[in-house]
Amino acid sequence: MKKITLKMNTVIKTLSVLGLVCCSFTATSQETLDFVPEVYTPTGPSCVFYQGEFNGLISIPRSPAVISKMQNAGTNCSSFIVNYNGFTPEAQTAFQFAVDIWSTSIGSSQPIRVNAQFSPLDPGVLGSAGSNSALTSNNPNAVPNVFYARALWEKIEDMESDAFGGATVDINASFSSTANWYYGLDANPPANQIDFVSVVLHELGHGLGFFGGASVDGAGEGEIRFNNTPIIYDTFIENGTGDAILSFADPSMALGDELTGNDLFCDSAIAIGQNGGVLPRMFAPGSWNQGSSYSHWNEATFNGTINSLMTPQIGPGEANHNPGPITLGLFEQMGWSICGGSLTVEDFDLASIAVSPNPFMSAITIKITNGFSNDYKLELIDINGRLVVNESKTAVNGEITLSNLDRLTNAIYFLKLTDTTNGQHITKKIVKN
Ligand SMILES: [Zn+2]
Repeated sequence: MKKITLKMNTVIKTLSVLGLVCCSFTATSQETLDFVPEVYTPTGPSCVFYQGEFNGLISIPRSPAVISKMQNAGTNCSSFIVNYNGFTPEAQTAFQFAVDIWSTSIGSSQPIRVNAQFSPLDPGVLGSAGSNSALTSNNPNAVPNVFYARALWEKIEDMESDAFGGATVDINASFSSTANWYYGLDANPPANQIDFVSVVLHELGHGLGFFGGASVDGAGEGEIRFNNTPIIYDTFIENGTGDAILSFADPSMALGDELTGNDLFCDSAIAIGQNGGVLPRMFAPGSWNQGSSYSHWNEATFNGTINSLMTPQIGPGEANHNPGPITLGLFEQMGWSICGGSLTVEDFDLASIAVSPNPFMSAITIKITNGFSNDYKLELIDINGRLVVNESKTAVNGEITLSNLDRLTNAIYFLKLTDTTNGQHITKKIVKN
């Protein structure tokens, strides 16, 4: 029933859009008539963000590049215009800090307009958000016949979308005014408080495009498309055997099984590159959880890592002020530009890098099959984003050895290898034991 109502809405909207475009046709150019975007207006937020368990004090700071840009006025790559409703001054300051992290992380020529609400929400709910609507594009830089979050559509089209679907606001977001928030900007919340900056950063991430169209009803039937059209995010999701989620009948019980099979991954090449060559796992628990399932990275895989921001829960004492390389990788793949440079790793062939032994004890050897004698920067980053090793080495016959690693505590680390001759880099996950 809901769906039929929605379709009717769209027909009405499309008709009104046609009306608008026809009117503007006489005043402007014929180009506006060539393509009328299809408009998808979600019925609810993409994310309902719940407070999770205490998992220890976790502090993942902003990247050095973002810190540097935020300290130098005028180095933003996008600008947000936020309409604050009901915010206290300290909540607004922390919100603006999160906005500044995004505006120094992704680029757009168009202002990103956010309507932000600060009011009581259901118990346990910290916040919720979504793109105001999503639109299709015929731009050469867009995938045809898929929906783009309004802010991303505007970035790709290099124009405001107000004429289509009649919306000025790009992102709607609500935050609880009664949660036990930590409003500090230092990513160090105490064990009993929720880091407000992290939650705002997370919700804005959804509004910028981190969401798909999937849902599963009470009978277990899954569906994804709206008016036969998926969202750009949906095009990157596949199961553990490599079957694209969009290859299943829609709607169908089989699709419902896939969406609740705990076996979904992101096959964005850039996100994979940023995840050490491994497909990042999506959150797809055995029972469908509207607002958590599908449109998040897997909690258990990424909790406590630099990529934890877009997982479905945040615990007290936990802060992440870094959008994370896999989220930025997926964003770049979807059409955002990355502030300060591309994350693309295509030329730096992941398959050509081998790290051994892994797990390691006191030394690792990196074998490279191209860039045989280039200069490399090797950085070892712990799961809290701290740089624990930083060395420059020249490959000798395609080999680099990193030694004296006994002093490191047994844990997971990320080895970032940068070819200093061309700036290309990859990250591999390695384990000390
Ligand atoms: Zn979320």
